[in-house]
Amino acid sequence: MPDQDAIVLYPSPGWGHLIPMVELGKLILQHHPSFSIIVIVYHTQNMATPASAAQYVTAINATSPSITFHHLPPVSNIPPPSTTSSPVENMTFLLPLLNNTNLHQALRTISQTSNLKAFIIDFFCDAAFQVAANLCIPTYYFITCSALALVLALCNPTHHKSMDKSSKGLDLMLVDITGLPLIPASDLPRLATDRGSQAYQFFLNSGINMARANGLIVNSFEQLERKAIKAISDGLCVADGSTPPVFGIGPLISSGKYQGPENEQHDQCMNWLNSQPSQSVVFLCFGSMGLFSAEQLKEIAVGLENSGQRFLWVVRNPPPDNDKEPKLDELLPKGFSERTKDRGFVMKQWAPQMEVLSHDSVGGFVTHCGWNSVLEAVCGGVPMIGWPLFAEQRMNRVIMVKELKVALAVNESENGWVSGEELEKRVRELMESEEGKEVRKRSSAMRDAAAKAMRKGGTSHNDFEKLVALLLS
Ligand code: UDP
Repeated sequence: MPDQDAIVLYPSPGWGHLIPMVELGKLILQHHPSFSIIVIVYHTQNMATPASAAQYVTAINATSPSITFHHLPPVSNIPPPSTTSSPVENMTFLLPLLNNTNLHQALRTISQTSNLKAFIIDFFCDAAFQVAANLCIPTYYFITCSALALVLALCNPTHHKSMDKSSKGLDLMLVDITGLPLIPASDLPRLATDRGSQAYQFFLNSGINMARANGLIVNSFEQLERKAIKAISDGLCVADGSTPPVFGIGPLISSGKYQGPENEQHDQCMNWLNSQPSQSVVFLCFGSMGLFSAEQLKEIAVGLENSGQRFLWVVRNPPPDNDKEPKLDELLPKGFSERTKDRGFVMKQWAPQMEVLSHDSVGGFVTHCGWNSVLEAVCGGVPMIGWPLFAEQRMNRVIMVKELKVALAVNESENGWVSGEELEKRVRELMESEEGKEVRKRSSAMRDAAAKAMRKGGTSHNDFEKLVALLLS
């Protein structure tokens, strides 16, 4: 009989999913060093993985030897990206499905050598739920997005059924369930609303399976998302059955040294930040995948220049050459770098975001509202300007601006365009106005609440202890 207790993690390979999942593994090990943590990673084939996941895995291997990685072999028969409106999400759900046979084999092998206590999966890896159920392995979901995204997934099956009877829209249902401000349907993620897409079907199934899981772990904390977490734990999201226990154990943010692909500007950037006054720099960064057209980049430059504020801006080439190093002289307005050299720093491709957001010189963050970025800003107490690009980011922004009041919103046009004038206005508002001061105060308070939640006796700490007790039972 195998004797070592093992927990298997199954992350989605995107940067914003893999890192928090491994952080969860590290946290479990910190409290229970006798566990073995095995991370199963599927081969991403030609799917664009934003930052170098392979380098990250190497770094974890070197620093956390108790975490081992099990790589599934490549699979064949991957269809070309679908023509639906959510091709990336579609592929992210589909690849785990294509890997189910290999996963089954991997779980069986692991069970032969260890006492497999739990299988923790990303919600994009929902296809694995059935595999684990067939093998009678207790399965938990780890939501690397907000608790509100979990509410959405859990109540979607009910909404789906009742829609035929022309019931309320999903937007109003969310208000009823959570008591949060209305999130207009146009701000909800497309995979929850675009019924014609395959991604919608995957999302629907994930909501059904989550309600049958042993537990739901969410990278959030009570003070940040009290209403959403309460709605789930009160059982309000699953109409026709019970809800598994929910654990708000966040904010779990990257604690390792490896912060993404190497960037020769790293030291220069940190030295530059060291020489700036406290809370004076606006940081602009749009996640691991955010890209802009050449016209939009020029407009951002105009806005920053006219704002008169100090800035640190991460610039990538517009698609399709986004992997190539950007030529700033060609991309940015003529003379921009020279005119702003005393108060601006442009970083190519990738910034050490965690390090930047915890630096004292940073006083504002223009963000795409990806959940990890939101959590990192919260932990740094940095007030935000929300400029969402895709996925559930528009929904996150509504909550950040209207409920939490830790962010201001840019006004973008219907096709996502933001003028230089608009960006200038918002940046000035955040850095100079009374309203900006209020947002800053709220952000500092949320930083303190996050730290408290993670300390012994804090809500996230308590939820984590309850989770581990359940994993061990
Ligand atoms: N990130 C970074 N440097 C960059 C861009 C992104 O370190 O230049 C990190 C960021 O700190 C965060 C993650 O990548 O941990 C992005 O996750 P998020 O959920 O915010 O957005 P996504 O990339 O999933 O859209």
